[in-house]
Amino acid sequence: MSKKTTTVEKIDLGAASPSRRGFLKSGTAAAAAIASSPLAFAAPDPASTAADKMIGIQIGAASFMDEGVGEVLDIVQKRGAVNTIFISTFCYDRGLNGRQMPGRPFPDHGPQEYDEKSYHGGNYATPHAKFYQNIAIKGDKMKAPDFGNSDILAKVIPEAKKRGIKVFASVLDSFDYPEEVRNMIQDFVEVDLSGKKGQAMCFYKPAVRDFWKAVVTDIASSYDIDGILFFNERNGPLTNTIGANFDVGFDASRITCFCDDHKRAAQKRNIDFERVKEGYRRLDRLVQESLNGKRPSDGYYVEFERLLINYPELVAYHQLFDKGKHEILKDVKDAIKAVNKNLQVGFHIEHENSFNPFFRATRNYEDLAMRADFLKVVAYNNAGGERYANFIKSIGSTMFRDVPPEEFMRFNNHLLNYANEAPLDQLPTSGLSADYVARETKRALEGSKGKCKILMGIDINIPIKKTSRKASPDDTYAATMAALKNGADGLILSRKYSEMMLDNLAAAGRAIREGVNR
Ligand SMILES: [Zn+2]
Repeated sequence: MSKKTTTVEKIDLGAASPSRRGFLKSGTAAAAAIASSPLAFAAPDPASTAADKMIGIQIGAASFMDEGVGEVLDIVQKRGAVNTIFISTFCYDRGLNGRQMPGRPFPDHGPQEYDEKSYHGGNYATPHAKFYQNIAIKGDKMKAPDFGNSDILAKVIPEAKKRGIKVFASVLDSFDYPEEVRNMIQDFVEVDLSGKKGQAMCFYKPAVRDFWKAVVTDIASSYDIDGILFFNERNGPLTNTIGANFDVGFDASRITCFCDDHKRAAQKRNIDFERVKEGYRRLDRLVQESLNGKRPSDGYYVEFERLLINYPELVAYHQLFDKGKHEILKDVKDAIKAVNKNLQVGFHIEHENSFNPFFRATRNYEDLAMRADFLKVVAYNNAGGERYANFIKSIGSTMFRDVPPEEFMRFNNHLLNYANEAPLDQLPTSGLSADYVARETKRALEGSKGKCKILMGIDINIPIKKTSRKASPDDTYAATMAALKNGADGLILSRKYSEMMLDNLAAAGRAIREGVNR
């Protein structure tokens, strides 16, 4: 199964494309190039692909509205060998929604025009008031206004079923919400270390827990879906304070949550709330001084470790955050199963899980596996290089500031069981290897001990800096094949169709057809 090419059938998309609004509207060179190029992809025989593997793709409402429901479904099924779609249904985040991110190059399909002016986010299906009657957070007022009253699930489900494609609704909790939603949820948001209100909803507010149950109950009850994939990438105060992340750096507003409900939850577990706050203030001060190069006499790392020893409340309170997050996952699963026990429930496991040993230590695949029917494990190898480099730089500027960054990264590679990845200065342009995808696949399968399915999140043109690696069909093929060859129960092509170049999608499809049938 090492050959990289297979018998392909040339299909002229030009015949199918004129009805696609995006092409008509844009009429760009990219569109013309697609219509005229020999678009090689495997024969459209869905029955031959992935009989027992879930091969999914994430798609936002904008793609269906821009390019046409049938057209998009045909493309992802024929080119990507997809048998399942994950429609961003309740979502404010542009990572899963909307057209290409503003400023990033357009893919070779869809309108060549950004949508930042019309983009809003929300519930792209129809929220039904009866599910929110006794709930303080009014989800029925969160209809996404982007496409008027259109209901993306009602529109797509019949067409998908006709093609034998399963439909999952994706539901995402955000770091922050648009202003009008913030006004609706202001009594239920987090409070940061300095006492300021944050922008995300606190897991320990009863109304917040009720809200997420209502959102998924509404969707599960109102549509003929196959399941729900729940996203929540928010992290607790310890990793946020020390900058153990790849994207947010040192944002004091992310040192959360210190609200009264969180305080009560701490007290219930005999965690001294005042000691928690004192410990976090000291840790935050150490981090700020470290960023300014003010070295403690015993060194950065020792001072950090000393704080952990003197304030075990730091870790206990961080765990409490994760516990709250995981309680929401349990609520979501129970609520969906109460509607129909056959609906499949999955959780997205964010990219930090790959290259952040602090994050890894706070998670346990077996524990997560018992909460879900499947986990979507992010292993984005293309964007992974840039993100991993950012993580090393971020944490290397505080507690590991005494270690030269390149050496720290090599040390971290050993901790993570990575082999032969590019040196730090070349990571963004090289990306992470297909071997990284293979190792993360094996780790997830071993860790989850067969207690749930493992679907690997595959990177197809996830936006990265202009100077970072450009995704190619060969890379995409290799990453997809690495996940399949190492036993993944399925894949989710990510992050969203409106970012993906069709050649890369087709390369994933080729690997899927070869990998599944080998
Ligand atoms: Zn709170």
